[in-house]
Amino acid sequence: MSETLPSPIKVDCRGIDVFYDDKQAIFDISMPIEDRAVTAFIGPSGCGKSTFLRCMNRMNDTIEGAKVTGEIIMDGADINDPHVDPVLLRSQVGMVFQKPNPFPKSIYDNVAYGARIHGLANRKNELDEIVETSLRRASLWEEVKDRLHTPGTGLSGGQQQRLCIARAISIQPEVILMDEPCSALDPIATARIEELIDELRENYCIVIVTHSMQQAARVSQKTAFFHLGKLIEMGETEMIFTNPDNQMTQDYITGRFG
Ligand code: ADP
Repeated sequence: MSETLPSPIKVDCRGIDVFYDDKQAIFDISMPIEDRAVTAFIGPSGCGKSTFLRCMNRMNDTIEGAKVTGEIIMDGADINDPHVDPVLLRSQVGMVFQKPNPFPKSIYDNVAYGARIHGLANRKNELDEIVETSLRRASLWEEVKDRLHTPGTGLSGGQQQRLCIARAISIQPEVILMDEPCSALDPIATARIEELIDELRENYCIVIVTHSMQQAARVSQKTAFFHLGKLIEMGETEMIFTNPDNQMTQDYITGRFG
């Protein structure tokens, strides 16, 4: 791993609590997230990884009964400020889900969709360029360039996930959130996505929830270990997996619980 100088903080989460109705799911989590790096969230199922991830693009707003308090500072402003447009925020903080979810549209239209609604291209050739660049960055171009007008849903699972990544990238986000992006994929497709994540981190701030500790160790520079809605420990991935400070982290990474 070639991490040298520390990167600046892209998203600074401060004192975050999340409630689903009366039940508290996240307890006072503060976490600085670095730019141009991959941060992995690990921990037993139900410990709050996805809930915390969803705070970063206000996806919890879409869940009835969910309430988030605390500050999430991105580029100097709190994303929970009432003046922030959540739709615009989600174009800056893209998301890739567990199950690939291409729109029931052509490959081309899947990638062009965001650029069209955000008015990023005025002419057809500009849109063509956005589609090609996004598909290239998602390392899918070579496989689909001759069938751009066929349905995205006709691709393999791994290709569909790369299509969803291309779709997220097409509107030039700064942060990409990934919620177990490989859990529906076979090992070969998983390896391709992991390679892609490693390439993308040069230009983006990436946060990935994973149930696979091997995956966290392979793709991330920073790892955060959650337990029962609390952040137990966060640090350099190598340190978390070899010499964590906390006994609970040690027990988890050595398979003693979870
Ligand atoms: P993880 O991603 O670590 O598996 P989650 O963030 O999905 O954990 O869940 C954390 C806690 O919040 C769990 O107790 C879960 O049952 C609860 N929870 C998650 N989503 C919802 C929801 N939409 N409504 C109510 N409770 C939820």
